Amino acid sequence: MYDLLIIGAGPAGLTASIYASCFHLSHLVIGKVPGGQMIWAPDILNYPGFTEITGKELTGRMVDQVKTRGGEIVTQSVTKITHYPLPVVDNDGNSQNGFEVETEDGKKYQAKALIIATGTERRKLNIPGEMEYTGKGVAYCATCERQDYEGKLVAVVGGGNSAVQAAVQLAQAAKKVSIFYRGTELRGDGVWLEQIKKKDNIEVLYQTVLAEITGDGEKVTGIKTKTVTDNKESSEPMDKVFIEIGGVPGTALAAPIGVKVDAGGYIVIGNKLETSVPGVFAAGDLVSAGFSCEQISSAVGLGARASSSAFAYLKGNKAPSVWGASQIKR
Ligand SMILES: Cc1cc2nc3c(=O)[nH]c(=O)nc-3n(C[C@H](O)[C@H](O)[C@H](O)COP(=O)(O)OP(=O)(O)OC[C@H]3O[C@@H](n4cnc5c(N)ncnc54)[C@H](O)[C@@H]3O)c2cc1C
Repeated sequence: MYDLLIIGAGPAGLTASIYASCFHLSHLVIGKVPGGQMIWAPDILNYPGFTEITGKELTGRMVDQVKTRGGEIVTQSVTKITHYPLPVVDNDGNSQNGFEVETEDGKKYQAKALIIATGTERRKLNIPGEMEYTGKGVAYCATCERQDYEGKLVAVVGGGNSAVQAAVQLAQAAKKVSIFYRGTELRGDGVWLEQIKKKDNIEVLYQTVLAEITGDGEKVTGIKTKTVTDNKESSEPMDKVFIEIGGVPGTALAAPIGVKVDAGGYIVIGNKLETSVPGVFAAGDLVSAGFSCEQISSAVGLGARASSSAFAYLKGNKAPSVWGASQIKR
């Protein structure tokens, strides 16, 4: 039996492993895709310490660090988690939870604590041209992108906070930003909606969806749109398309063991990143709003904290819950 199983090998899970090694916890990372979403990032420009690095290279460096510190990664999909009371008791005489994690290949792993770091998957439009031009003008994260949209025609798809914020950010440099939203009213925070009104290079096309993204084989050159009311089609030139319609949290495994999720399906956590099930912690993009900004840097920070909290939990909450807190007066 391991002290800790970390499910997910994105930046949150990999960082949790590095910290678990520092705490001398016997542990295993089980993740389908080492690097997670990070692996798809063509150019990372906002992760401290690297002016510019590809997602693949940053993944390679994190995986190397995990292994150098003594961590192990099992590249498998987890299909089921079960929990049961352990015969052992903690320092206060309470029985702790034990967890069993089953993987696609039928193997089973047991641990006294879990960190769930299964991330999110960006929602796709599933329209012609979307896959072909991803990284060639189609992107899912305006804050992550190289700022090469200066003076360009930019489309933003979506009507929530991330779409509205992306449009305001892009409008600082783009020639024109067109927001395509299937609804009748944008749903962003008031402060951002005010900004949208103030920018004369942003237009909002309501009840309009993208039907196709077109290009010359190398890059995006245009879009085809359709109105949702009467299917009226039109085409227009476009240089960049930002699809900002949110993510789907990977919490399907957590809910069956009683881990509470919020209305959006994200895991509800407390200050120590503990979930509603004792012994289960969560880190990365899949935690409820307010804790994550769905970036590598926040995933890394949460991974470190989740490991630190798991360590404290395993020591019967007698150990400091923040690494170094015993030396630092807070
Ligand atoms: C195209 C793109 C570009 C981006 N660019 C940037 C950028 O420039 N800068 C930035 O800071 N952020 C960027 N991001 C966002 C960043 O990648 C994420 O915020 C970050 O990866 C989240 O980390 P995470 O560890 O929470 O989850 P993820 O990276 O999503 O990792 C989840 C992990 O869980 C695993 N997993 C899921 N389900 C299971 C299961 N059932 N069993 C086993 N394993 C499972 C996955 O395989 C993966 O290993 C980008 C994202 C995308 C998609």
